[in-house]
Amino acid sequence: RGDSTVADRQVDSVCPYCGVGCQLTYHIKDDEILYVEGRDGPSNQNRLCVKGRFGYDYPRHPSRLIAPLIRREGVAKGLDPDFDPAQPLTHFREASWDEALAFAASGLIDLKATYGPDALAGFGSAKCSNEEAWLFQKLVRTGFGSNHVDHCTRLCHASSVAALMECIGSGAVTASFMQAEQADVVILIGCNPAVNHPVAATFFKQAAKRGTKLLILDPRGQALDAYAHQSVRFSPGSDVALFNAMLNVIISEELYDTTYIAEHTEGFEALKMHTVDMTPEAMSGLCGVEPDTIREVARLYANAERAMIFWGMGISQHTHGTDNARGLISLALACGQTGRPGTGLHPLRGQNNVQGASDAGMIPMVMPDYQPVSDSQVRAAFEELWNTKLDPTPGLTVVEIMDAIAAGTIRGMLIQGENPAMSDPDLDHARAALAKLEHLVVQDLFVTETAQFADVILPASAWPEKNGTVTNTNRQVQMGRAAVPLPGQAKPDWWITQEIAKRFGLDWNYQHPRDVFAEMKQGMASLDHISWERLEREQSVTYPCSADDAPGADVVFSDAFPTASGRAKFSPTRPLPPDEPVDSDYPTVLTTGRQLEHWHTGSMTRRAKVLDDLEPEAVASLGPAEFIRLGMAPGDELTIATRRGSITLKARTDPGMPEGMVFVPFCYGEAAANLLTNSALDPYGKIPEFKYAACRLSRSDVA
Ligand code: SF4
Repeated sequence: RGDSTVADRQVDSVCPYCGVGCQLTYHIKDDEILYVEGRDGPSNQNRLCVKGRFGYDYPRHPSRLIAPLIRREGVAKGLDPDFDPAQPLTHFREASWDEALAFAASGLIDLKATYGPDALAGFGSAKCSNEEAWLFQKLVRTGFGSNHVDHCTRLCHASSVAALMECIGSGAVTASFMQAEQADVVILIGCNPAVNHPVAATFFKQAAKRGTKLLILDPRGQALDAYAHQSVRFSPGSDVALFNAMLNVIISEELYDTTYIAEHTEGFEALKMHTVDMTPEAMSGLCGVEPDTIREVARLYANAERAMIFWGMGISQHTHGTDNARGLISLALACGQTGRPGTGLHPLRGQNNVQGASDAGMIPMVMPDYQPVSDSQVRAAFEELWNTKLDPTPGLTVVEIMDAIAAGTIRGMLIQGENPAMSDPDLDHARAALAKLEHLVVQDLFVTETAQFADVILPASAWPEKNGTVTNTNRQVQMGRAAVPLPGQAKPDWWITQEIAKRFGLDWNYQHPRDVFAEMKQGMASLDHISWERLEREQSVTYPCSADDAPGADVVFSDAFPTASGRAKFSPTRPLPPDEPVDSDYPTVLTTGRQLEHWHTGSMTRRAKVLDDLEPEAVASLGPAEFIRLGMAPGDELTIATRRGSITLKARTDPGMPEGMVFVPFCYGEAAANLLTNSALDPYGKIPEFKYAACRLSRSDVA
C-alpha cells in the first residue's frame, strides 16, 4: 500500500462468501477495491479469513460479463470443451438489454401459454440479497404461476431445516456461535469450521482456550482437533447409530433433564422405548466407536451445565440427513440443552445468504418465513399483499426439477447465480437435463458451466456492487453496500428480476432495494422491529427482535417452542445404510466438500488472483495408507471412478483421512467431483447424498 495506492474512500459491507457474515470495509481508489479489512461486526470482531481478505477482485476479472448475450442460431447447447473465458465468445452474440429481456421473457411466456405454469421453474441465488431473493420467489409464484422455486439450501441444509421445523417448529439456529464461549461443552459434528467457517472456528478455539470442552465427532480428522478435549472418528454415514447409542446411555444412566422434558417436550417415553436396545455395544459395530468412548462422550454432553451442538453438511448431505439432525435434536432436548446462554442447536449455514434466501421464501413448499403454501390462510395473506391468486401445490425441489426436465414436464427455466451444471449430483444427468430445456435464461457474472447451456445470459451484479441486506448463520440481518460501480452494461439482480416481471404483465415499480424490504416486512413477522434505516445505522440486528431499540434474541425458545403445543418433539430414528454402500467393485467411500481457498463451484474464487494462486489445480485428499496401497506418491495423478463416471486429478496427503475414504472438492470444472456423486435423495429434506458414494481408486497410469 504505497502512496500511489492510498484509498480515496471506504465502504462498509459484509463478506460475500460464507454464512459467518463477517463485516468488512472495502478500501477503494478510483472505483477499484485496493484491499479489504475486517470490521467489528458481532460475528467476526475485526477478523476475516483468507477468502474475505483476498477474494475481492473476482468482479473485475477479464471474463466478467458486461453485456447481455443471446445464443447464436444453430449452436448446440452444452459444455464447450474448448471454452476459454479469455477468448471472444463464439457461441453467443451481444444484444441490447431491450432485445435480451424481450427474448428472455417471451421464451418463458410462450412455454407457459402452451404447457401451463408447471412447465417453468426458477433457481434463485443465496449469493443475492434478501430483497433479490424475495423478488425472485415472487416472480416465480406470481408470474410463472407455480411454486417450482428453489436454491442451494436444497444441497446443503434442507434436511437440517426439515428436522428442526418438525421437532422445534423453527428452521433457524437456536443460538449464535458466539454462545460457544459460554458453553461448558461444545459438540462439533460433521463440520470442519477451520475450512468452511474459518472465523467461527476462531470462536471455538477461544472457547477451548478458556476451558470449554470441544468434542469433535467426524469420520475425518481436522485442524480443530488440536483444540479438542476429545476427537472421535466414526464410520462414514453411521451418525444415527452413534446418536442412538448416546441416547441409550443418557436414558439408561438417567442423565436426562426430567424437569425440562416434562415442561418443554413431548414424545420422550416413545424415545425411551425406541432406544432401549440400542446400547453402545449393539451400535459400536455400526458406527465404529468403542462402547466406552460412546459412554464417555454421552456423559460429557449430558452432565454439562451448558452445552451446544454445531453441525455441518457431514450431517445433512445424506439420504438419512433428516434422521441425523433429528438425532442431534433429541440429544439436546433430552438433556435440556436449549433456551439458555451457552446452550443450543446450530446448523452452520453455508452461503452468505442461504439463511436469508430461505427466510424470504425461495423454497418450493413454503412462503416467506416458512409458512406452508398448502395453508389457505397463508396463501390468502400473500394473495392480498400481492393482489393475485397463488398455486396451493408445493413445488419441486432442485434435483426433482432436473428429473422433471428429463421427463419433459419442465421446459423453461430462469437460473439466477446458481451453477447446477457443477453443483448438482450426477452431473451427466443434470447437464443432459439443462441441454434439454427449450428455453433457459441465466443471470450471472460469468459464462459459468450452467450459462453455457443458456439461450440468453443476462449480466448481473457482484456482491461488492450491491445494496441490500443479508442474513447470516446467527440470524443476524446485516447491511451490504455497493462499493464499486457495475461494469459495462451489467445490472443489479433486483432490476433484472423486475424487468422480467414487467414483461410477464406484473405491475412492479420498485425504485430501490429499500422499497422491497418495506414490502418484505409486510409478509415476514421475523423482520418486526428491523427497518432499513435501523440497519443503515446499526449494521446488524438479530431476529427475532422484540423492540425497535432491542438488539434481537441471540438465544431463542427459553419459554416455549413455536409449535402448535409450544413443546418440542422427539423424533426417534433407526440406523439406515447409505444409498450406495461400498462393495468389492467400488470399495472406497467418496466424500465431497469445499476447500478453505475456494468457494463452491469456483466461479468466484477461481477468478480471485490470490486464492487461485494458493490453490490453482484440482486435488483429491487421501490418507497415507491409501498412498501405500495404491503405490502412489503425493502429487501423482489419481483416477476416481463411480457408477456414474470418472475423473483424474492430483492426489494430496491428508493424515486426517481414514483408510477407505477419499475427499474431492467440488470447485474444479476440469475434474468435476459431481460427475461422480449419487443423486439419491433424503425423503424429507430432498437433499442428495453428497457425503457418501461408492468409488474405486487407481493410479491414473494404470486406470
Ligand atoms: Fe468471509 Fe466466511 Fe471468511 Fe468471514 S469466515 S471472511 S464470512 S468466508
